[in-house]
Amino acid sequence: MWHNVLMEIWDTHVHLDNLESLPNTVKAATLHGVTHWVLIATGPASYHRQSQCLTRLRHLPWHFIRSIGLHPEYDYPPEAIVETARLIAHEPIAAIGEIGLPTYRLLNRQEFNRNWERLYIQLGWAEQKDLAVIIHAVHTSAEPMLRILEEFPDLRRLLFHWLKAPDEIVQEIIRRGYFVGVTPDITWRSRDRRLWDQLPPSRIVLETDSPWTHHPDNRPSSPAQLADLVTYLNHTYPQKFDWAWQTAQNARELFCRKDRGL
Ligand SMILES: [Zn+2]
Repeated sequence: MWHNVLMEIWDTHVHLDNLESLPNTVKAATLHGVTHWVLIATGPASYHRQSQCLTRLRHLPWHFIRSIGLHPEYDYPPEAIVETARLIAHEPIAAIGEIGLPTYRLLNRQEFNRNWERLYIQLGWAEQKDLAVIIHAVHTSAEPMLRILEEFPDLRRLLFHWLKAPDEIVQEIIRRGYFVGVTPDITWRSRDRRLWDQLPPSRIVLETDSPWTHHPDNRPSSPAQLADLVTYLNHTYPQKFDWAWQTAQNARELFCRKDRGL
């Protein structure tokens, strides 16, 4: 697939420290036209690992934005929130996430309370510092997440990543002006096509959640796959603008404050 120099493709959700065979994965994505990555660190240890990866990759022609948050599906030692605060104060971090509510693990009462408290603290930081927010809250967790967000009305640059939710919840997310992350799952899964049909073009961003797998064959995903996703979208849902262009505009609106460049 050919891309002109103005073309951007954004992968808005990558776990760089979990990817295999860096820097080849970055090179392959670059060759496929993927220009911008949002790097999701799931805590201080993950953030430091990513910093080491970035040192090794510094000669490559790519752009990235860094995000950090305490993931709701994991538990953390008490000092993690303090260390995360320190990183947000001193490092070039443009987004908080992924944070939210768990779906895939059962929490005891203490774990539930700890995650609840951390979530409020991290949303508060995003509000104070005007950072973008990446939300992990799927299936039954999406609605309680919306209720929590009613307490943070100033957070507008907010993304529900890899969303799976009932139609009425999707519609509420859209009404509030939040963004929604769509993955390569849309190429084979009817659930994701149904989600797509409800989304206005101006609210969609693309993501792989690499290396999380997207296909029943269980192969790890990589950002290069977004080139095929853009081709699929351009053929399946033709519109005035190319989907790479449209979703890149949306990602810029979500992640780039107007007073800061990239
Ligand atoms: Zn993730």
